[in-house]
Amino acid sequence: MQIWVICVGDEILRGHTLNTNLAFIGDTLAREGYSITRECTIPDEENIIAATLTESLNSADLVITTGGLGPTTDDITRTVAAGVLERPLQFDPDILAGINAFLRSRNVSVPADALRRQAMVPTGTDTLTNANGTAPGLWCQLDKRALLMLPGPPRELEPMFRTHALPRIRQAWPAHLATRTCEVCGLAESVVAERVEPVLEAFPEVRPAYCARPGQLTLTLTAHTSQREELERAFAEVHPPLGTHVLPADCKTVGAAVGKLLMARSWNLATAESCTGGAIAKAITDVPGASAFFCGSFVTYANAWKEACLGVRPKTLAAHGAVSRETAEEMLDGLLARDGVDAGIVVTGIAGPTGGTPDKPVGLVFVGTGFRTVRRVERCVFPGNRESVRLRTVAVALNQLRQSLLAVGDEA
Ligand code: AMP
Ligand code: MG
Repeated sequence: MQIWVICVGDEILRGHTLNTNLAFIGDTLAREGYSITRECTIPDEENIIAATLTESLNSADLVITTGGLGPTTDDITRTVAAGVLERPLQFDPDILAGINAFLRSRNVSVPADALRRQAMVPTGTDTLTNANGTAPGLWCQLDKRALLMLPGPPRELEPMFRTHALPRIRQAWPAHLATRTCEVCGLAESVVAERVEPVLEAFPEVRPAYCARPGQLTLTLTAHTSQREELERAFAEVHPPLGTHVLPADCKTVGAAVGKLLMARSWNLATAESCTGGAIAKAITDVPGASAFFCGSFVTYANAWKEACLGVRPKTLAAHGAVSRETAEEMLDGLLARDGVDAGIVVTGIAGPTGGTPDKPVGLVFVGTGFRTVRRVERCVFPGNRESVRLRTVAVALNQLRQSLLAVGDEA
């Protein structure tokens, strides 16, 4: 089955709008066992929309467009599609009544012309209710093929796609792909591939995909739905070579995995952050329910705060600097000495772009983690720009604590 997606909108090509509609549709379809064959982002220009629609309707089983259904004159997807399909636009009074009811409930008024434009649909087209906006979605059945037109705003498109489009897609075409995914932490993409590929030699029908982010990677295995058993076997067999780098199936992030380990022990975690400015606390509290184990964070950016909040000695700061193993050790000692803190994470580093020296380059970060008798401070040098250094620091710090907790098992 061929699915083509056409995203219409000058704002996407100008870089003002991130194409999250594509990401959403791709991810939602993949979870359902479908894959997008091709995507094309085009401007709000009649000739280009017409040519792209014509080409895609000649090749794809399902063509999905996003954008260009709004009330303004630059929104022309609906009109151009009617021309390409040779199905003239017809006024639908029910759509207008629906739009009016929606606007009344919001106390908004829109010029009558604009309203009427959104109530025009190509003949023989089903409308998909828009619970969060005015423009309905449009489903145009063409023999075995279909054209699905969705509004641009993600808050309108997403519920409409889930509630009204997916059931039609499922009914019209059987899913063709089965997938399994796992999250891998603390291994470079090439290392994951090196460990996974030999296992997969025995499963030629199973295809791996690696999606790497700083410090974490999503490994996806895909096979045709007729090869589900092979897929399950392959998925089980790639786990041992990846060892404890694989997060538990119910944890999508390393923050969630750390939380799970701490809650199993009824331990509380605190953090003291310099170069990450609270990003580790954010990663931890991104997981709902973090209050069950997370006390809070000291963002000790200035030396004075490292002294006041954590008891780092002025002598240590003067002799070794804020970014040093010695300072990280004292930050960790001070944090773990606090009442009610069982486990801690501290970081101090140089995120750049300025502040580096030959001895202490940009990207140098000391990551300290510990609990009870186990204390560990690692010297890391991360590549990339300020954002990349900070993201990697967050991932490595959380994973360092996770690995220490796993290493002591039930003993601590
Ligand atoms: P529309 O009126 O249907 O063209 O949609 C306009 C609104 O939807 C604008 O606010 C856009 O920023 C947003 N939008 C359009 N296309 C996309 C897309 N592919 N991804 C995310 N937002 C989009
Ligand atoms: Mg638009």
